Amino acid sequence: ETERQREAIVQALENVTVRLEEEKAHLTELDSAIGDADHGTNMARGFSGANEKVKDMDEAEPAELVKTIGVTLVSEVGGASGPLYGGSIMSASQEFADEGITAETSVAFAEAYLEKVQDRGGAEVGAKTMVDALTPAVHTYKKSIETDDLAPLEALAKAVDAAERGVGFTTPIRAKKGRASYLGWRSVGHQDPGATSTLFIVEELLATAQT
Ligand code: ADP
Ligand code: MG
Ligand code: MG
Repeated sequence: ETERQREAIVQALENVTVRLEEEKAHLTELDSAIGDADHGTNMARGFSGANEKVKDMDEAEPAELVKTIGVTLVSEVGGASGPLYGGSIMSASQEFADEGITAETSVAFAEAYLEKVQDRGGAEVGAKTMVDALTPAVHTYKKSIETDDLAPLEALAKAVDAAERGVGFTTPIRAKKGRASYLGWRSVGHQDPGATSTLFIVEELLATAQT
């Protein structure tokens, strides 16, 4: 079982890495409109580094693998998004320590991750950040599993839809956190890069779960 979970994590990470490499120019273009034109390269570099690290960890438990992804993202991504993505994955990874990955611990991981992103970044929903995609995704995932009794795969599909709506919501609003907030009202009309990369990651988690 641990071996199966290890393979799932490695596969998910590889899918995310390939996707972010494909979307590198797209994400950087979004960041060039309201930031400093590096989000695509930051994310692609970070995930390719994590991919390399995790490949050789043959004996590792799920929590250890996920923690390593976080640690690597902190050191490789940089900028605002490195500590937010990496640090939050790192601390949320402990939710997998006792029982590995189950429906229940995946909800706990998602909630812990969201909480850490908000603690670290101080952004509420509506500040035009990754939190705008992440919050509806995590809430939908939790509700789908705990209240609607859906299987994790179906719950993840609902979370993708929610993240997608969240990304759409970032376009018409004004940035209140991060670099984009320096633009004030001029940030209106542009989609947030970090919310977009969050959507891509959740989409790849779903794609991995579907195979
Ligand atoms: P930087 O802005 O340092 O160049 P990136 O370009 O890699 O970092 O990441 C920018 C993204 O980080 C933004 O699109 C936004 O989604 C996210 N972000 C920035 N600041 C915050 C924050 N305080 N809370 C949550 N997300 C944030
Ligand atoms: Mg940037
Ligand atoms: Mg930067």
